[in-house]
Amino acid sequence: ITVTRAVVPPAIKAWLSTARPMLIDGKWVKAQSGKTFDVFDPATGEPIASVAEGDKADIDLAVKAARRAFASGPWSRMTPSERGRIIHRIGDLILENADELASLEALDNGKPKAVAKAADVTLAADMFHYMSGWATKIEGKTIPISALAAPGAEFVSMTRMEPIGVVGQIIPWNFPLLMAAWKLGPALTTGCTVVLKVAEETPLSALRLGELILEAGVPAGVVNIVPGFGETAGAALAEHPDVDKVAFTGSTEVGRLIVQAASRDLKKVSLELGGKSPNIILGDANLELAIAGATAAIFFNHGQCCNAGSRLFVQRNIFDKVVEGVAAQADKIKLGHGLSDDTEMGPLVSKVQYDRVTGYLASGRREGARALCGGEGLGGAGYFVPPTVLVDTKPNMKVVREEIFGPVLVATPFDEVDDALIAEANNTIYGLAAGVWSGNTGRAHQIANRLRTGTVWINCYHVFDAALPFGGYKQSGWGREMGQAVLSNYLETKAITTRLG
Ligand code: ADP
Repeated sequence: ITVTRAVVPPAIKAWLSTARPMLIDGKWVKAQSGKTFDVFDPATGEPIASVAEGDKADIDLAVKAARRAFASGPWSRMTPSERGRIIHRIGDLILENADELASLEALDNGKPKAVAKAADVTLAADMFHYMSGWATKIEGKTIPISALAAPGAEFVSMTRMEPIGVVGQIIPWNFPLLMAAWKLGPALTTGCTVVLKVAEETPLSALRLGELILEAGVPAGVVNIVPGFGETAGAALAEHPDVDKVAFTGSTEVGRLIVQAASRDLKKVSLELGGKSPNIILGDANLELAIAGATAAIFFNHGQCCNAGSRLFVQRNIFDKVVEGVAAQADKIKLGHGLSDDTEMGPLVSKVQYDRVTGYLASGRREGARALCGGEGLGGAGYFVPPTVLVDTKPNMKVVREEIFGPVLVATPFDEVDDALIAEANNTIYGLAAGVWSGNTGRAHQIANRLRTGTVWINCYHVFDAALPFGGYKQSGWGREMGQAVLSNYLETKAITTRLG
């Protein structure tokens, strides 16, 4: 594949012409060490920007700022309606700058700009808009108590929901802006203050978001954004003694490290981790819908989704038709630079990911899987891997067991909707998402009820909404993102009892 260099919009070029600083205590500052790191265009492998490299010293300053902002207000003491209005304004500013943010995302992550605009940017704005409404609706209860040890006395008891405090948030590179929104939205609406460590592969859109957050009126120190590497900045944040809670999205492996780091001080932890999601197509499904759906389920965002429908199970009488249909659609997906108008799929995010995914393809070949399309990396300067459909797989193959996080689907036929099918669909350490395709919705619901996953999509896939909780069973995580459910990640419950009379 020959990838022409992107025409970078002039405003972005100007913004990237100086090293991007980090956001600490309302100011844009260099790293304490003075160090910067390069950020690359994954379609060409060329550097596009340099960014301040945060490490422990910067995390210390950021946590100090977040603590001061939490302890002395004005954020946690601001009226809920005022806080909500500011959060809503962040959503408005994201939409006003949608084109620029989508371009940055395409350049930095590699995804097509049109997709970034329609999905990442739109959903990020909606997350702030949705969460802004909760600011005024976080309520406690009055609870009738019996107080058996104080006979005759009268009490009134109530609960107050309070922000958990200073939150450390660590996010990955697959949806850089959207993951920042998923994390910041609920933390802000509950009145927490934040230190956000963005992924070293893709720091740019979150840094631009930081500018919009200040413009919206978020006070200094409430949101601090520190770009840097996982083992330095990330680890320092996860183990910082003055951080009350850590929220992490990323690999299950690193999730385990986060839990270890947070365990010394028994910090609260929420985790959104990996997946190997089953997508099940029954013989009575609408085939046109199911084939397009199965294609999008795995290939959206180049398969770099924790919830990608990466294990396809198809009833045997339609198996050949479905996998050939998916392979034919996959073959038509146009690969190219994220900033080119006709690109439908960009490169993988980095050389590391390219090597990882092509390593899985080699392992699949060695173990006897057959590629109906794709099957090998394209080589060259960019990190392009074509959409790949593997058949003739066995349940114990690495490509079936492990999360690939790339555009690789493994497809297996099944005979009946029975316990064996459900057991195989659930036969994974993960439990993030699943899909079921059937003309018989009642039957699809029966299957949905038996899948051990935090999300099930019936006759659709990748439908996300700020109002819907998302998260994992088993080793896919702890807690939920989005919806009302996410608020509990950021709140403490205080019970107050008053003796009457
Ligand atoms: P991926 O495999 O998708 O790159 P990772 O789990 O490696 O996902 O990374 C997700 C985020 O976690 C990134 O911001 C990364 O810098 C950070 N990270 C990686 N290692 C650590 C660590 N040991 N401690 C804290 N954060 C880390």
